[in-house]
Amino acid sequence: MPVSSVAGISEIFSSLQGEGTHLGERHIFVRFELCNIHCEYCDELGKPGLDYDLNSVVERVKQLDAQFGPHSFVSLTGGEPLLYRNFLLELMPRLKQEGFKLYLETNGILWKNLAEVIGWTDVVAMDVKPASVTKEKSFLEEHRKFLELALAKETLIKMVCSKALDQTDFFDLCHMIAGVSQEVPLILQPISADVEGHEDFELMRFLDELQKSALHILKNVRIIPRLHKILGIR
Ligand code: SF4
Repeated sequence: MPVSSVAGISEIFSSLQGEGTHLGERHIFVRFELCNIHCEYCDELGKPGLDYDLNSVVERVKQLDAQFGPHSFVSLTGGEPLLYRNFLLELMPRLKQEGFKLYLETNGILWKNLAEVIGWTDVVAMDVKPASVTKEKSFLEEHRKFLELALAKETLIKMVCSKALDQTDFFDLCHMIAGVSQEVPLILQPISADVEGHEDFELMRFLDELQKSALHILKNVRIIPRLHKILGIR
């Protein structure tokens, strides 16, 4: 197995999980620096990282857990953690040995890398990316392959929605998900350029309509704004 001794990590901290179905749980976040795409709305890229070796990450996680824990999960986030496949192949078993449950937050694209690490995670929180919102290309096929693999574990899907969301994009993604699983939760997360998503009432009315339509395709569609932004915490 190739060994990767260091990874660029922008922060390791304890906080509330602010997104998705595990909302409000206390997690330790390990935020990897780089990403394989560049969403127009991203507020994480550009945060400078430091090179951490494996032991430094594990020790920092244990320290935070002793100080602020117990924690429900260690959340591997980014950036895109699956870009760091070799590092994860060492880190994830170590964290499991230390008794932590793992929550993988990913953009849902690098399905080959997911196949290699999925055995070690407890939860997969994957994005589906509408091109009209990210201003990236469509990743429909990558998301399909990713979801097929992810469902071996507890999985939730997040779609960041702005007023720029094209309805064809939206329904293509909903039908893709339903073709793999109608039961997997889909979280619609509002995002707005000027204010935090939930404060944009026009956007929230748009999401309300999208949710009603999507519930004819999928069984579990929820609208959840970012809790950490509402509470003003990291
Ligand atoms: S996938 Fe996530 S980390 Fe990567 S550019 Fe998009 S929002 Fe940022």
